[in-house]
Amino acid sequence: MKDLILNYTMQDLEEKISPKFRAKQIYSWVYHKRVDSFLDMKNLPAKMREELEEKYTIYSASIASKQVSSDGSIKYLFKLHDGHTVEAVLLLMRDTQYNEDGSIKHLPKYTVCVSSQVGCKVGCAFCLTAKGGFIRDLSAGEIVEQILQIYRDNEIDSNRRINIVYMGMGEPLDNLDNLAKAIKIFSNPDGLAISPHRQTVSTSGLSAKIDRLAKMDLGVNLAISLHAVDDELRQKLMPINKAYNIASIMEAVRNFPINLRKKVMFEYLIIKDVNDDLASAKKLVKLLNGIQAKVNLIFFNPYENSEFKRPSVEDVKKFQEYLLSKGVICTIRESKGLDISAACGQLREQNL
Ligand code: SAH
Ligand code: SF4
Repeated sequence: MKDLILNYTMQDLEEKISPKFRAKQIYSWVYHKRVDSFLDMKNLPAKMREELEEKYTIYSASIASKQVSSDGSIKYLFKLHDGHTVEAVLLLMRDTQYNEDGSIKHLPKYTVCVSSQVGCKVGCAFCLTAKGGFIRDLSAGEIVEQILQIYRDNEIDSNRRINIVYMGMGEPLDNLDNLAKAIKIFSNPDGLAISPHRQTVSTSGLSAKIDRLAKMDLGVNLAISLHAVDDELRQKLMPINKAYNIASIMEAVRNFPINLRKKVMFEYLIIKDVNDDLASAKKLVKLLNGIQAKVNLIFFNPYENSEFKRPSVEDVKKFQEYLLSKGVICTIRESKGLDISAACGQLREQNL
């Protein structure tokens, strides 16, 4: 396969391409005008266009399938150059804008959920991605490409503010170097200009890697997939807890540099009769004491032969009310795209 241009930060390209100022032009063709051939980069000399076309490719994956949910969310399955597949979801929310003249405008607000690996090594008991084992890391370019293809497919304007959540398939911190590169490529002002403050890395809690991410000081937001409040249960659900227990995660979170206006998100997947009780909610409040946290409750999304069950709406609401009554910010993740089973790993499984 030709070298994927999306793998390169502006700095990389400036080192590779001479004269240097061409790198910015290439970025603009790739990320703003979204051409799919170097030959179309009209302000580059013809010879350079041909040389680039020979050596590099702009895209390496194709859209293998696409499912549109009744709420407008779109789930993509991408086929990579080696035939493996990963998924990404475009979540559509409505943003209401109140104008000075009294008019109200409803603008679509986009969040894209991207994958960082084919499969996952972490092996959580409730996760469908884990069932297929680990295959390989995605390159930085393959992470970037998911977003770029979604922009293209939906003709999303480059100026439109979008959010990125690294919550698709894989454990992003297990592929930290490529993740960090992708974060930088996304945020480049001459490219998609998606600020790190609008990017959220979700992790199962690899404490040592959270520390490394902290040291990189990229400015991204952090989400911790906590799911259980005592080590015994967490170990059953997430075997990684043996290596990095809850205390080590909380310590890493305390040391993580966060924007003053922001909070660390704690994801809590609620599974019926496993962790949906108020005693767990109580412990969670204690655990988060002194941390700038917000909690996101997620309904377990069942799949064929899954050993766990979806909790009742009533129990999830009670859980939320308890946290709110103790002053903990807590939202329930909307079941966006439920009809297209937008929980990670589920589209891929249907296509296997
Ligand atoms: N590996 C990272 C990011 C990808 S998983 C992590 O674990 O945080 C993204 C989120 O999807 C995690 O919070 C995970 O717990 C959740 N998830 C996995 N399987 C799920 C299911 N069947 N239903 C609902 N959420 C699920
Ligand atoms: Fe991997 Fe996240 Fe799934 Fe756990 S929940 S197996 S860490 S993708």
